[in-house]
Amino acid sequence: MPIALQGMGIELRQDEPLRAHTSLGIGGPARMFALPRNEREVQALLQFARDKDLRVLVLGGGTNLLVADSPLDALVLSTEALRGTETLQEDSEEVLLRVAGGHSLKSFLSWCLRRGLSGLEALAGIPGTVGGAVKGNAGAFGVEVSQCLRKVCLLDAGEGLRHLQAQAVGFGYRRSGISDEQVVLCAEFSLKRMPQRELKERFLRYFSQKERTQPLGERSAGCVFKNPPGASAGELLEAVGLKGYRIGDIQVSPRHANFFINLGKGRAEDFLRLIEEAKQRVLKSFALELQLEIRLWS
Ligand SMILES: Cc1cc2nc3c(=O)[nH]c(=O)nc-3n(C[C@H](O)[C@H](O)[C@H](O)COP(=O)(O)OP(=O)(O)OC[C@H]3O[C@@H](n4cnc5c(N)ncnc54)[C@H](O)[C@@H]3O)c2cc1C
Repeated sequence: MPIALQGMGIELRQDEPLRAHTSLGIGGPARMFALPRNEREVQALLQFARDKDLRVLVLGGGTNLLVADSPLDALVLSTEALRGTETLQEDSEEVLLRVAGGHSLKSFLSWCLRRGLSGLEALAGIPGTVGGAVKGNAGAFGVEVSQCLRKVCLLDAGEGLRHLQAQAVGFGYRRSGISDEQVVLCAEFSLKRMPQRELKERFLRYFSQKERTQPLGERSAGCVFKNPPGASAGELLEAVGLKGYRIGDIQVSPRHANFFINLGKGRAEDFLRLIEEAKQRVLKSFALELQLEIRLWS
């Protein structure tokens, strides 16, 4: 039964199955699960977890996560209810926007497309939330989310709310300096005006290239491994014969070897075994240690 959080009306669910919140459809129950609706509620939940000495895990769209099959002793804080976009400033060339951390990246990109705002169109087709994209510095075709970012609003139990300039966040290839204890409440982007027709063409070009090469309609968590410097993880995995290889109900995509797919009853345990198999094969054949791009929750 849900219990109220200190009379604030925040619903706290218990034993919420995380498989319902991940694109892979994998994940055991979280001891506690909450959907804060604003900064105040996020703050209260972080304080609650601190008082109870509970680990906090921030969940966006769950599209870059492999969650263990066993119960997770944590408070999972979903950003699903933290949505919205706001125009802060605009002139004839540029627009400054603030977007809430739980806002869907896809709907933000469609919104930009409708208004002729360019800068992030290479990210067309990437699922998940704006907060998740900022935390992992999501990118495609050589463009990263951090390139158009001006500020990030971060909340953590210790320091409260902070507005950081993007340069101070420590972005790198598929990573940021945002710690696991911090919540991206909102992000500010500076985008350039572009004739809508031209923008639409660019958007569709990126999207169809992604659609042609990646298994977008299947249950995956995106690329499992980061690309090693100067190489493609997908090509290395293909070269060691992994395309189509399967453990239980987890299969290396026959379309793109860096995507592992849940065929139906996939388990995190099998996914982890496939990760080990892939790492060993690439290490043996190419003397390269693959690094994970997906995040593991256990
Ligand atoms: C079919 C498919 C294609 C994909 N293609 C790409 C691609 O081209 N490029 C790419 O970079 N990624 C890609 N991904 C991976 C994924 O979509 C991105 O990494 C996405 O940005 C993750 O966002 P999310 O909201 O789902 O994060 P989640 O998976 O929910 O979380 C990922 C991490 O971010 C943290 N997090 C999430 N929200 C917040 C927040 N508000 N504040 C603080 N921390 C937060 C979580 O704690 C976790 O550590 C793809 C995934 C799929 C399934």
